[in-house]
Amino acid sequence: MRGDTGGSELPTPAHLTPGVRAGSPVRQCASALERATVEYALLAVSFFDTHMTSKTRKLLVLDLDETLIHATENTLDHEEDFRVGPYRVHLRPHLPEFLASVLAQFRVGVWTASGESYAAQVVERIFPGGTLEFVWSSKRCTTTRNWTTGEYQTIKNLQKLKSRGYSLESIIAVDDTPAKYARSYGNLVTVREFVGDRSDAELPLLAAYLTHLVDVPNVRSVEKRNWREHVQRLANTPAPKD
Ligand SMILES: [Mg+2]
Repeated sequence: MRGDTGGSELPTPAHLTPGVRAGSPVRQCASALERATVEYALLAVSFFDTHMTSKTRKLLVLDLDETLIHATENTLDHEEDFRVGPYRVHLRPHLPEFLASVLAQFRVGVWTASGESYAAQVVERIFPGGTLEFVWSSKRCTTTRNWTTGEYQTIKNLQKLKSRGYSLESIIAVDDTPAKYARSYGNLVTVREFVGDRSDAELPLLAAYLTHLVDVPNVRSVEKRNWREHVQRLANTPAPKD
């Protein structure tokens, strides 16, 4: 997280934890599915772009750090895409295609636990102008205490969006940190943490899965923990014959 302490707008040091690495069985599975899922998502884009109005679209709430980008003060083995303050920002592979897909199918907002200024600068670089419902930062997060561990944690409380007229049944949140949505697991699609791996193939899989959620009446009633396996089943299902 960057800039998420006390409402400061200055970036703070990146938080790094081990992620899934290239070469793992899960990663190999994702690579094999990549082409099929991209084609599936783009086909869906063309359909929904012409058949859905913006008012009927579900709201997709995207995290930034380690979900769409990785920002670090460290030097990786490849060059960054751009810099924000002291941070070298690396885009998750396939990000432009992913954003094109979801912006055509959903209303999209960004909610990061990082600072407001940092969030604004990153969003300005990666999103086409004027396409987002909102950009929320650490100021909108809530600090709660886990009474089992005694630790304090930062959460993104979707009730704040409900009070703005969004239905909880129609909100999908994407985040690499499940604890951020501890009160809204039914809305959450958890992605693997991105820490700069250039072979990462999470976003094409995610785009295909989100397309599957476009039409469900209540996203909270859909079991989403095994979403990658669901995408795999979709990719292995032959297309119906005309
Ligand atoms: Mg994150």
